[in-house]
Amino acid sequence: PISVFWFRRDLRLDDNAALSLALSSGRPVLPIFIFDPHILNSLARDDARVTFIHATLTAIRTQLETQYGSSLAFYHGKPLDVFQRIFHAYQVTAIYANHDYEPYARTRDEALRKWLQSQSVDFHTCKDLVIFEKNEISKTDGRPYTLYTPYQQKWKAVHCHTKLANYSAEIKGLVQQTALPYLTLADIGFHRSSLAVPPYRLDPTLLRHYEQDRNFPAMAGTSRLGPHLRFGTVSIRKIFQQAQAYSDTFCNELIWREFFSQILWHFPHTEHNSFKSKFDLIQWRNNETEFRRWCEGTTGYPLVDAGMRELNATGYMHNRVRMITASFLCKHLLIDWRWGEAYFASKLLDYDMASNVGNWQWVAGCGTDAAPYFRIFNPIAQTQKFDKNFDYIRTWVSEWNTGTYPAPMVDHKLARERCLKTFLPV
Ligand code: FAD
Repeated sequence: PISVFWFRRDLRLDDNAALSLALSSGRPVLPIFIFDPHILNSLARDDARVTFIHATLTAIRTQLETQYGSSLAFYHGKPLDVFQRIFHAYQVTAIYANHDYEPYARTRDEALRKWLQSQSVDFHTCKDLVIFEKNEISKTDGRPYTLYTPYQQKWKAVHCHTKLANYSAEIKGLVQQTALPYLTLADIGFHRSSLAVPPYRLDPTLLRHYEQDRNFPAMAGTSRLGPHLRFGTVSIRKIFQQAQAYSDTFCNELIWREFFSQILWHFPHTEHNSFKSKFDLIQWRNNETEFRRWCEGTTGYPLVDAGMRELNATGYMHNRVRMITASFLCKHLLIDWRWGEAYFASKLLDYDMASNVGNWQWVAGCGTDAAPYFRIFNPIAQTQKFDKNFDYIRTWVSEWNTGTYPAPMVDHKLARERCLKTFLPV
C-alpha cells in the first residue's frame, strides 16, 4: 500500500505541509501532478504560467530522480478520472494535498472527498498556502473580518503567540521507482511561452528600502514574489520569517494577501459579484472600443498606457500602476470591473483569484474595505507624484511626447463628474 502526494499550488519540496505529513505516514509516497483540462482549456496555448508550472515540475522530477531514487508522475485529465487510473496501478491507502481556497478547487475537492470515502481511501488536506486560513483570524463572535485594519491587528496578535510549525520534511520514504509517467508541454496541448517568471528578490537592502521605494514604478523596489507565492515555489512561512526582521510594511502586504484569501473563502460569490451587492446595479457604459484601447495601452494617458503595455509585454505590472489603470477603467471609462479583472487574470503571471478580485473590487469601490467611490485617481497627478521624471513612462511608451501619441480619450474632469453621477445613486 502507498500514499499519494498531490502537488497543486505548492510546487516545492521544502517546507511543504502535506508532503511532510505524507512522508510521516510510514507508507511509500507517490508524488503526482495533474494537468486539469478544466483549468487549462480557457488559457492561451503559450500561456506563460503553464510553461512555468511545467518547467518547475520537471526540475522537481529531476531532483527526485537524481537525489532520491524516486520521481514525479505527470497526468492529464479530470482529477477523478486520474485517480481511478492510479487506483488500477497501485493499492492506495491515502491521498495528501494542501488546501486550495478558490471556488472551483473547493468543489473539485469536495467531490473527490466523497468518492474517496466510497473507496475507503483517506483524503488528508493541510494548510500551507497561507499562515492563517479560513476562520483562524475571526472576530470574537466568530464572524469573519471584512475590514483590513482590525484583521491585520488580530493577525499580528495571534501570530505573536503562535509558534510557526516547523515542517522540515526529510525526503525519504518516497516510492522507489523512476519510470513514472511524464508529459511534455506538447502532450498537454501547449507550447513554450517566450515570457519567463523572473526570480524574486528578498534581501535586507530591498526590505529596508521597501517602504520608501515601493510606490515608484521605475524603481526595482518590490520583491516580485507574486508568481512564486501563487504557485508555491516558496514557502510563505519562510518568506514571512525572513521579512519580519526588516520591514513591517512588507509584512502588512503579505497580510493583505491573507485577508483577501479569507474573504474569498467566506464570500465565494465575490468571484463574480460585488461584495457590496448594491454596486451590481451600477449602469456601466461598457464600450467595447474603449475597452480595447485600455487593453492595448492607447488611452492617451501615458501612465495608464505604460502600465498596460508593461502588462502585455511582461505579464507584470507595478502595484501603483495596477491601481491607476484599474481605476481608469472603472471610473474614467465606466467599464465593469469584471472586464478588467478578467483581462488581468489572462495576463498576470502572479494572477491569484482572491487578490485580483479583492483588489479590483477595492479600486471599483464595491469590495470589502474599499476605496470610496468618489476617490478617483487622477493619472496626471499620479504621474507627478510617482513618475515625475517620466522614467517609467519612457520605458513603455516610446512615442510619448511625439506627434504620434494619441490625445487623451476622455477629459479627466468630464470623466470624474460622469463617474460621480453614475455611482451616487447606488
Ligand atoms: P511586493 O510589493 O514585493 O509584495 C510582496 C507580496 O505581498 C506580493 O507578491 C503579494 O503576494 C503580496 N501583496 C502585495 N500587495 C498586495 C495586495 N494589494 N493585495 C494582495 N497581496 C498583496 N496580487 C497578486 O498576487 N495577484 C493578483 O492577481 C493581483 N491583482 C491585482 C489587481 C489590482 C487591480 C491591484 C491594484 C493589485 C493586484 N495585486 C495582485 C496586488 C499587487 O499589485 C501585487 O501583489 C504586487 O504588485 C506583486 O508584485 P511584488 O511581488 O513585487 O509585490
